[in-house]
Amino acid sequence: MKPALGSLLLLISTLALPAGAQPLVVATVKPLALIARDVLGAGAEVRQLLPDGTSPHGYSLRPSQRRLLASADLILWVGPGLEAFLADALGDRPAGRVLTVATLPAIHWPPLEHGAGADDHGADVHSDTADGHAADLHLWLDPRNAAAIAEALVAALNAGDAVPGAAAAGFRVQMAQLEAEIRARLAQAPERTFAADHAAFGHFAARFGLSPAGHLRDAADHATGARSVAVLSARTDIRCLVAEPDSQPERMRHLAARLGARLQVVDALGAGVAAGDGGYAHLLTAVAEDFARCLGAPPLP
Ligand SMILES: [Zn+2]
Repeated sequence: MKPALGSLLLLISTLALPAGAQPLVVATVKPLALIARDVLGAGAEVRQLLPDGTSPHGYSLRPSQRRLLASADLILWVGPGLEAFLADALGDRPAGRVLTVATLPAIHWPPLEHGAGADDHGADVHSDTADGHAADLHLWLDPRNAAAIAEALVAALNAGDAVPGAAAAGFRVQMAQLEAEIRARLAQAPERTFAADHAAFGHFAARFGLSPAGHLRDAADHATGARSVAVLSARTDIRCLVAEPDSQPERMRHLAARLGARLQVVDALGAGVAAGDGGYAHLLTAVAEDFARCLGAPPLP
């Protein structure tokens, strides 16, 4: 009797495990982790790979992070253009256990900046182009892309029935509401043109009708040439200069003074945003509010 009971218990426990266990989703940067938590809820355990406020440009992995990656059921990242430090580590992972956001067909891409402001609606705008423009991979700053990421995430995990398919549809409805709120707030700003330290806001600008006038570091975080900086500094129509938390404050203050522009720190990575219900909406709302003030909107009542 005893051996039979033992194997029955073993059978029950192995059957029960998959039903009760949450899949482990490891997201590289905070915005992806916020989207994952919002849409997956209790259906998955979501861990954030990079600490808050850490730029993914030029990062390198620690051994503890490699162990976390190895234990993940699904790794969520933008792609090798943003998290270059992951490209090698993901080389031998099965395709179904990695979600590379930049390759999703549903992602919207902004037109590339071409100095004078000309638009390029080429079909391949999101890969690095021959003329040296780095693609803007801060793609979570377009709420339609957040919805696309949420959908792909739910689809990837649904193989294990972990998350109801309706979760992604609900998230998409929230994104449409969020977008309407942001449009209404930005409509209170008299300005549309801004310069930025780092070209991280192409997706946000394209979606909400703002005009990037130039930057000091391109989308891949490489310094732009002295001539483009000189051209930017000489402009007289820029009233808003956007810095990031890791910008050099002194350099930003000098440039803002030269332009006669308001200086505003905007955090594309949402370091100050509490992870929890609606975390992604808090991130994008904070970005929008900082842009609204930089562009001259009156303070909120
Ligand atoms: Zn960046």
